[in-house]
Amino acid sequence: MRSAIVLGGGMAGIGAALHLQGRGWSVALVDKGEPGRETSYGNAGIIQSEAVEPYAMPRDWPRLFSIAARRSNDVHWDLGGLRDNLGALLRYWWHSSPARHETVSQAYAGLIARAVTEHEVLVAASGADRLVRQGGFRVLLCTQAAMDEAAANAERLRTRFGVRSLALSPAELAAAEPTLKQTGAGAIHWLDSWSVSDPGGLVAAYTQLFRRRGGTVRRGDAGTLKQGGAGWSVETADGPLDAEAAIVALGPWSTGLLRRFGYRIPMVRKRGYHRHWRSAQAPSLPILDAANGYVMAPMAKGLRITTGAELSAAGPSVSPVQLARAEAAAGNLVDLGSPVDNAPWSGTRPCMPDMLPVIGEAPRHRGLWLHFGHGHQGFTLGPASGRLLAEAMSGERPFVPAEPFSPGRFRP
Ligand SMILES: Cc1cc2nc3c(=O)[nH]c(=O)nc-3n(C[C@H](O)[C@H](O)[C@H](O)COP(=O)(O)OP(=O)(O)OC[C@H]3O[C@@H](n4cnc5c(N)ncnc54)[C@H](O)[C@@H]3O)c2cc1C
Repeated sequence: MRSAIVLGGGMAGIGAALHLQGRGWSVALVDKGEPGRETSYGNAGIIQSEAVEPYAMPRDWPRLFSIAARRSNDVHWDLGGLRDNLGALLRYWWHSSPARHETVSQAYAGLIARAVTEHEVLVAASGADRLVRQGGFRVLLCTQAAMDEAAANAERLRTRFGVRSLALSPAELAAAEPTLKQTGAGAIHWLDSWSVSDPGGLVAAYTQLFRRRGGTVRRGDAGTLKQGGAGWSVETADGPLDAEAAIVALGPWSTGLLRRFGYRIPMVRKRGYHRHWRSAQAPSLPILDAANGYVMAPMAKGLRITTGAELSAAGPSVSPVQLARAEAAAGNLVDLGSPVDNAPWSGTRPCMPDMLPVIGEAPRHRGLWLHFGHGHQGFTLGPASGRLLAEAMSGERPFVPAEPFSPGRFRP
């Protein structure tokens, strides 16, 4: 039987582990803690079938100026973050030209198209239906100009990629979400996206499924990974594990481990924050407040307010500026009540400069496979991209062309 160690128990790791297991591999999942307690825990919990085009870096001067002046709440930066991300940011800028973004989106849309279907299979098999809402989510627009632009974009995505949405007038939004104090110029309701009430809980449910199907879950440090004999080994709390293949699915920690093996892969680190509130007026579906750059999402733990991107240096952060602004704006939409968490959570979106996740074998190490860099949509994509990885490892025909995701594209 073929064997693999998956390093990292976030949505990317468990997605790959389940797909390999389904193809007859003997699989062990290794994490430094409980699976699903890092980035895959703290996100906005939206399975974004509408996100067929990845987030490009803004290239129009008004938006760049607003970011530079720190007026935008979508993006925040500090000098340490700019310095640490500079090389990757320059590449991100290059890949964000309209022509290159168009090419990247073709590849991305193919993966996203499979995202809900792959989750659907796992949700049913793991009995996690109670965590999932299938009603989509809404983007609130404050001005008529923003609403017109968003509606035109939604229509473009419908004709081009078949993404379904509804444009809601302010009155229609008020009828759908009666607790909102303001409905601005209305909303775009993305109809086919899903959302969950506990993102970490969904990873835990998938991990239980993996265990029930015979998978091994161990505590261990990916930093102990070694190549030797016919494959790879890693130390765990229960002793060493060996397998013919190892998969790096460490989210934002992946590039750090790979440096030890001589790979210098650029990553744009976009930190985000969240805090839960005991609101008696939580909306029924998540709302992205476009003007103020945050999402409010009803979760089991309370109303979760999540922020946009902070270009942060590696290491712990001390600047939840965006969260303070987001919470002030959210308080104008609903009564937030009191905070559930004393301190905000923060985690890092692992974004690649060309906006595509890294899926494939490491160029100079046989049996070392990479599965990270899912950026803004890793919670959405883990099971679909895990399938692509498992197909490549098993010598199957890939369900979408695998070449755009190849690790070799960085010439690392
Ligand atoms: C604020 C915010 C909102 C977001 N909203 C959404 C959303 O609505 N929808 C969406 O699709 N995506 C969203 N994302 C992005 C998404 O959360 C990430 O892309 C995704 O969770 C990445 O998953 P991952 O498995 O690659 O990484 P992670 O979930 O971080 O998993 C990596 C795992 O590696 C483990 N690990 C790290 N170091 C070691 C080590 N040395 N040894 C062993 N194990 C180790 C960690 O413990 C962790 O479990 C959001 C992100 C943020 C920050």
